[in-house]
Amino acid sequence: MTTLKLYNTLSRTKEAFEPQDPKRVTMYVCGPTVYSYAHIGNARSAVSFDVLFRLLRHIYGQEHVVYARNITDVDDKINKAAYEQGVDISVITEKFAKIYQEDLENLGNLSPNIQPWATQTMDEIIGMIKALVDKGHAYEAQGHVLFDVSSYKDYGSLSKRSQDEMIAGARVEVAPYKKNPSDFVLWKPSDETTPGWDSPWGEGRPGWHIECSAMIEKHLGKTIDIHCGGIDLTFPHHENEIAQSTCAHDGEVFVRYWLHNGFLNMGDEKMSKSLGNIALIRELNEEYPPEALRMALLSAQYRQPLNWTESLVEQATSNLDKFYKKLDDLAGVEVSETKVDSDVLEAVLDDMNTPMAYAALFALLKNKELSDAELKATLLGSGELLGFFQQSPQDWFASKSTGKELIDGALSDEEVKVLVDQRNDAKKSKDFALADQIRDDLSAKGVIIKDTPQGTTWERR
Ligand code: AMP
Ligand code: ZN
Repeated sequence: MTTLKLYNTLSRTKEAFEPQDPKRVTMYVCGPTVYSYAHIGNARSAVSFDVLFRLLRHIYGQEHVVYARNITDVDDKINKAAYEQGVDISVITEKFAKIYQEDLENLGNLSPNIQPWATQTMDEIIGMIKALVDKGHAYEAQGHVLFDVSSYKDYGSLSKRSQDEMIAGARVEVAPYKKNPSDFVLWKPSDETTPGWDSPWGEGRPGWHIECSAMIEKHLGKTIDIHCGGIDLTFPHHENEIAQSTCAHDGEVFVRYWLHNGFLNMGDEKMSKSLGNIALIRELNEEYPPEALRMALLSAQYRQPLNWTESLVEQATSNLDKFYKKLDDLAGVEVSETKVDSDVLEAVLDDMNTPMAYAALFALLKNKELSDAELKATLLGSGELLGFFQQSPQDWFASKSTGKELIDGALSDEEVKVLVDQRNDAKKSKDFALADQIRDDLSAKGVIIKDTPQGTTWERR
């Protein structure tokens, strides 16, 4: 078999992957901070690394791969939401952790083997901070414990930034009690508005970075094979994880391969709150067949940027139609064992080149040399490697028509005209947020608005 090649952010090259122990291959993905709904960008990260998990299981055997993805349930964004709503943080975190898991399951993701919560790792977090203080890598100042960046000579090796760039990039608070502006918080004091835990430094709570380091040590060990996350996490989050874990473990290697997914953009715009263009997984799952969202998410190689558009999802839907139509034609064919096509496998082994894997899947549909049984076995086996074709053709076509009814059947011409007039009024009174909202709502229902010098026109998609 060809070897698995993975682009390692640490070396900035594609490397042949060799686990420390092929009987226990370890991977960790930074999971969500559970204070709100997850968006389609978060889904890209989770779906990309779900393909890696599937691939590792295929190569090393299901029982030899351990995948942990954490739940960040201690964070100031959670505290703020809980305080504003007058509830305990667990009310917020349990709700959104459940929603996250459901959303990802709908997108065809396998569950990680371990999903640790920060609140359930508090002893290990405090233990690791103590070790860092004892070894001279951290210091206490005004109820805080800070990591002393000057104590770790390789700080910056992952993001390859200079100290000055790191200070600017982290937008760190230049607090008077810090020895060095890049020193980052391991522990901070809590007051009556924030949850706290007993510690040698008083009642307080951990910083975000140490949570991941402690959860990894507890569940996977001191040195792990693969650590994944979005490219935005390279600095400061992953840089700080490396500093903490390496120093707590007297220089032992923390992570052997660092993998980072590229960003998903809304069309060619960045997805952001201020632009009001955040698409939630939950909403999209209701509007489109989830398998089509998965196919769209994997349509670019995971490190490349992905421009998310409606036509991308439509294209993915029509691609899936072709595969499910073929599987429907083969409904009466018995298959005893599924198999993975060698070209599909080769593509995925090459740093998870999913667009190339799609091309190989399409080639199967045209391959005249395969018997019906071979074709069905190969489509099902290769699809499973990527998380596709696991429902019945009937269920696929049913999931599609639910989405379509929502898009096409919802508005009469009269209703569209009323909304178009409302949008024009909103524009006149310079309420552009409302105008955009109406345009987006119409677009979600298949009605496209065009502003021309002669006035506003509309058409159905
Ligand atoms: P967060 O909850 O913001 O920490 O994000 C969870 C994961 O999603 C992290 O690995 C982020 O890097 C990743 N992520 C956030 N936004 C995007 C995006 N627009 N495109 C791709 N990945 C993203
Ligand atoms: Zn993390």
